Amino acid sequence: MLGVFDSQTLGPGFELSSEHLLIQRTVREFIEAEMAPVVGDYLEHDAFPEAVVRGLADIGVMGLPFPEEYGGSGAGMVAFALALEEIARVSPSVAAIVFAHSSPATLIFLNGTEEQKREWLVQLAEGRIVGAIGLTEPSGGSDAGAVRTKASWDGTSWILNGSKTFITNAGTPMSGVAVVAATTELESGSGLSSFIIPADAPGFETGEPLHKIGWRAADTREIFLRDCRLSPTSLLGKPGEGLRQMLTAVTYGRVCVAAIASGLARACFEQGRGYARERVAFGRPIADNQGVAFKLVDVAVGLAAARLLTYRAAALVDGGQPFRAEASMAKLHATETAFEAARQAIQIHGAYGISREQPVSWLLGEAKVLEIVEGTSEIQRMLLARLLGISE
Ligand SMILES: Cc1cc2nc3c(=O)[nH]c(=O)nc-3n(C[C@H](O)[C@H](O)[C@H](O)COP(=O)(O)OP(=O)(O)OC[C@H]3O[C@@H](n4cnc5c(N)ncnc54)[C@H](O)[C@@H]3O)c2cc1C
Repeated sequence: MLGVFDSQTLGPGFELSSEHLLIQRTVREFIEAEMAPVVGDYLEHDAFPEAVVRGLADIGVMGLPFPEEYGGSGAGMVAFALALEEIARVSPSVAAIVFAHSSPATLIFLNGTEEQKREWLVQLAEGRIVGAIGLTEPSGGSDAGAVRTKASWDGTSWILNGSKTFITNAGTPMSGVAVVAATTELESGSGLSSFIIPADAPGFETGEPLHKIGWRAADTREIFLRDCRLSPTSLLGKPGEGLRQMLTAVTYGRVCVAAIASGLARACFEQGRGYARERVAFGRPIADNQGVAFKLVDVAVGLAAARLLTYRAAALVDGGQPFRAEASMAKLHATETAFEAARQAIQIHGAYGISREQPVSWLLGEAKVLEIVEGTSEIQRMLLARLLGISE
């Protein structure tokens, strides 16, 4: 508990290695050359940017955190955070696709059998398919243990019935697999279990895409499980381990969301500064007014702290150390910084900030999503209150 404030837990990773810098540069070059010119069109039409995702797969982004033997590059979480930050600086939506894809891959990597990793993780890490994680249900997402989807064993197969909502990457042309939480009967009562569901499994259906104010290029929709019949090898780990597995994956995801939020806040800072220096009012650039300059300074300070918190949490992952509190701190601070940064960047742009033709106008919706996914800000505060010994 005290370790959160112990200087030793700052850990390794603040010095970026030459490999980290190479990954950062490679992703940045791809984003600027291949993604930036086309991404606005996908966002405008709520369309999944398949060509961009395949391009990211080609440069190895989809498998950055996973070992080479399973199709990844073994570059680790700091490298993945740097990549997500670079992507989010130009499109948080596309970064969201990559992050959401990493969650089922993480679940299979941490909990899968060798056979499951060979069958699914390799394809995911190589980016030949995209994956989804199915936890949230129409009745709620914050209370992860309250899943109503049921899985029963009929002697030869698992049969799943229920529905999930707000599932990212479930219905794209590249969607190949979803890892879904369902309640199973155990000797000790009932508990959650995770299942690997191929996109072509009988009884697995997806709804229409949901239209959102952010993550517009990311495909988000409902999943319906209607007597969805799965082989015994679809169970991930043992029955009853699902809640722990899902919460662990979500904790990794918080580091990813913090990285996306850092990239988004950086976009707000850069666009806000650029506009403030050019826009003239009362005979001088608006940046020369403290009322404008101080907004950007506050964004920059929040961003600097967000990046440090994010890299610290990612470095703890890479160092094999506990990172729950650090992941929540990074997620909470970075996403709230990103939302405030988007609010201020739009304010600085005045009426132009409201125009959909200005990239800055998209960032408020993008930032709002980040305060909700992977545990809302309230849930992060609730968790931290426990982890810091403030409340039970
Ligand atoms: C764009 C998008 C993509 C998503 N992608 C996925 C995905 O791929 N897979 C997936 O499983 N889910 C996904 N989600 C769902 C997301 O994880 C949930 O929205 C989130 O967990 C919150 O759940 P909820 O929306 O049901 O809100 P609820 O749980 O209903 O909460 C509503 C409000 O009440 C607050 N609240 C709840 N309990 C407490 C409490 N104890 N104390 C204080 N406040 C509380 C919450 O903070 C929130 O403000 C996605 C959501 C969005 C918006």
